[in-house]
Amino acid sequence: MGYRSDLEARMAKKATKAIVDYAMLDEGDRVMVGLSGGKDSWALLQILDVLRQRAPIRFTLVAVNVDSGYKEYKHGLIASTCSARGWDYRIEHTNIGQTIDDLLDDGATPCSLCARLRRGVLYRIAKEEGATKIALGHHADDFIETLLLNLFFAGALKAMPAKLVSDDGRHVVIRPLVYTGEDEARAYAKECDLPIVGCCCPACGDLGLQRQRTKRLLMELEREHPGVKHSMLKALANIAPRHLLDTRLNPPADLRAMVRLKADTTEPPVSGFSRTLNL
Ligand code: SF4
Repeated sequence: MGYRSDLEARMAKKATKAIVDYAMLDEGDRVMVGLSGGKDSWALLQILDVLRQRAPIRFTLVAVNVDSGYKEYKHGLIASTCSARGWDYRIEHTNIGQTIDDLLDDGATPCSLCARLRRGVLYRIAKEEGATKIALGHHADDFIETLLLNLFFAGALKAMPAKLVSDDGRHVVIRPLVYTGEDEARAYAKECDLPIVGCCCPACGDLGLQRQRTKRLLMELEREHPGVKHSMLKALANIAPRHLLDTRLNPPADLRAMVRLKADTTEPPVSGFSRTLNL
C-alpha cells in the first residue's frame, strides 16, 4: 500500500523515527489521541492511522475531543468527520470555559489554566477508555518555541518531553510529531481534507505577546539562515551538561573529587589554579 503523497511519506517517516527514538509505542497499546479539531491534532490522528495499518506491532486508536462548552464550538463536525473515516472517537462535554471565566481575573491569560483542566479531563478519560498512551499533536515548532520562551522569560533551559510519564506514574503522554514542522502538519491536514475547527474561546488566536514575538523571531531567523530551526531541534537531543551552570548536574563536590583524582595520578601535575583553591 503506497502513501497518498510525498508529504504523507515524509510525515510517516518522521513520526516513525520519533516513535522508535523514544520507544513511544508497544504491542497492544490503545492510543488515545487528544483531538482539538486544530490542524496539528488532525494531522497526528491521520498519520497515526496510516502507521497503524503498516506497523509491525498492533495498536488501536481512539480520538478524544474535550469540548470546553463554548456555544459556537463545532464538535458535531469533529464527530461526523471521525465517523465518516471510521475512526473511533469520543466527545467529552465539559464546562471548562465557564470555570476559567469564574476563576480568572479579567485580562489574565487563560491558556495555562485551560491546559491543566483539559489535561485532567484527558487523564480521566484515558482511564475510562483503557488507553495505555495519550498522544498529543505538539510539533517541532512547539518544541523550539517553548525552549525559547523558557530561556527568554522563565530563566529555565527546557522545552517539552517527547515522552512523559505522569507524576503518579499512571499515564504516558507521547508527542509523535516532535520531528514534524508546523508547516507540514498544516499542509497535511489540508491535503487530507480535514476540517479545521476553531476552539471558540475568547483567547483563541490571541497568542500571548511573548509567544507571538518568539514565533516572529524564529521566522525571521529561519528566513535569514535556513536550517536554524532544525539546528535548535537537534540541540535538544545533544546537550552538554558539563557546559551548563546547573550545580544539580555538576555538583561542586564531584568537581573537587575529579581534581583530587587528577592530583593522585601525579601526571599531569595538579594545576596551580587548583592549589590556589586549596582543593
Ligand atoms: S486559546 Fe483558549 S482553548 Fe486554547 S489553550 Fe488558550 S484558553 Fe484554552
